[in-house]
This record gives sequence, structure tokens and C-alpha cells, in this order.
Amino acid sequence: MERLTSPRVMEALLKKHGFTMNKRFGQNFLTDENIVRKIVDAAHIQPTDVVLEIGPGIGTMTRELCDRAQTVLAVEIDDKLIPILKETLADKDNCRLIHGDILELDMVEELKKIDASSFKVVANLPYYITTPIIMGLLEKDLPLESITVMIQKEVAQRITASPGGKDYGALTVACGYYTRSELAFIVPATVFYPRPKVDSAVIHLEVLSGERMGNKEKKAFFTVVKAAFGNRRKTLLNSLSNNLSLEKEEVRQLLQLAGVEEGRRAETLSFEEFHSLAMAYGQITW
Ligand code: SAM
Repeated sequence: MERLTSPRVMEALLKKHGFTMNKRFGQNFLTDENIVRKIVDAAHIQPTDVVLEIGPGIGTMTRELCDRAQTVLAVEIDDKLIPILKETLADKDNCRLIHGDILELDMVEELKKIDASSFKVVANLPYYITTPIIMGLLEKDLPLESITVMIQKEVAQRITASPGGKDYGALTVACGYYTRSELAFIVPATVFYPRPKVDSAVIHLEVLSGERMGNKEKKAFFTVVKAAFGNRRKTLLNSLSNNLSLEKEEVRQLLQLAGVEEGRRAETLSFEEFHSLAMAYGQITW
């Protein structure tokens, strides 16, 4: 089969099926074979892996994934793309095409059907639902090994930020709870059809094994993180007393217990300091 990244091939395929892009679904298809390979390289796929691809589009990256993985589950919401995918993936018998919404998919059920015990996610994500997709996957306690996805550059910088900068926020810390993250590479808008208004980046998230905290501790952790970043320009003393409905004296006690100075702002706190804060919050509220 000719390369689906070729504008001529893509145009002919879309025309043949009378397909027009649907902005509502965040459709920007890849037109650069090297980028497709680089994304799949960044995912470190092994021949025994099960891969979940979210939004296969016309199947460009799906074909590359099928060549490298044992099984590919490709979940596409747009019914108009299904006949196209059936054609472009006809020769890939290790691909299971699922017509549906990734936010509604029961991944445990899908894994059961193919008798798989773990999976990796690889995708060029629809940007309008980047955060719900990533957080949905991480929060569901699935046997997920890693997530390698192309997303909007600004969101990639927020997820992989270090403490101390403007990009570091609740999303960074939430992803840091579940994964070790890295920004693999930046992708210019010129490699998509149609071209998005923003640049993109590929991130690789390696899911950490085992529970990091008990249930109560975890709840306290996310409550404290949300409260601390609720007013990110304010000091911790002010943001925590506003958003946790605590008296300033109680917050002082909490910060002292955690060994964190009251004049600091949320964006300067490391993961470990948030953890200490959560433990202290647990002590004064439980
Ligand atoms: N993988 C293709 C590529 O790289 O050329 C297409 C990527 S495009 C940025 C995003 C894809 O996700 C589109 O095919 C779109 O129809 C699909 N999509 C959008 N929302 C979805 C959802 N909720 N569930 C599953 N697929 C979705």
C-alpha cells in the first residue's frame, strides 16, 4: 500500500469516500512519515505489546503500530472514518477496530476480550479532550504501562514542567503522581493536514508501578494540590486557608508540620513537599 502520509494518496482516499474533516473531532492528520516513526519509536513498543491507539484517523500510525506490536486496539469515534479504516487496515490482521468514544470505552472489558494483561497507549490525540483522556486513563487504575502521545505544545510543557516556573501546576503534579514524564520532541504545525493553529509536542509518560499512597492519603494529596494551585499567585498561607476553609492559624500549624514556609507559592513546591503537606493535612483533619 502507498504511504498514507502522501498528500496525493490522502486526498484520493478522502475523495473516494466523500470524507470531509470534522473540526468537532479535532481532526488533524499526520502527513510526515518520519514523525509517525519517531512517535512510535518514543513509545518503545515490543513485539509482545498490546497497544491502544486513540483516534486512528485514516490509519497512518495504526499501520506502523501493527508492524511493531502484537495487537493494536484502534478506537475511532467518527463513523465516517470507519469504512476508510477498514480499507487501509485490511491487510493488518492484528488490528481490532473499535467504533466508539474513548471517554466511554470500558478498557478492562476490551483487554478481557483479547486475554491481555497490560497495554501501552500511543496516539496523536484530539486536542479538545487531551486532559480528560490522559487523566481518565491514569485515574482508572488500569494495567497501563505507558502513554506516548502527541498533544498541544503548551499542554506538553505543563505536564512535564519542573517546579518554579509558570508551566508547573496542578496538572504537572497530578501526572507526576502516576507517572515519570518526559517531553520527547516538538512537532511543527506544518506536518498536519489541515494545519492546526498551534505547535505540538510528543510526551512519554512511564506509569509508576504500585500504589504510591493509601486511599485517605491520596485523597488528602489531591485536595491539598487543588487548594494550593487554586490561587497560584497567593502565598500558601492564603491559598490554603481560602480553599481548604481553614483558619490561618490552622494553616500555619499545617505548614509547620510539613516543614514548608508559609510565604511560598504552590508553583515552588516539589512533589515530595506536596506529599508532606498532604500527610500534615491528614493529621490535622482526620
Ligand atoms: N491518528 C491520526 C493521525 O495521526 O493522522 C488522526 C489524529 S487526529 C489529531 C484525532 C483523531 O481522534 C481523529 O481521527 C478523530 O476523529 C478522533 N477522535 C476525536 N475524538 C475522539 C473520541 N472521543 N474517541 C475516539 N476518537 C476520537
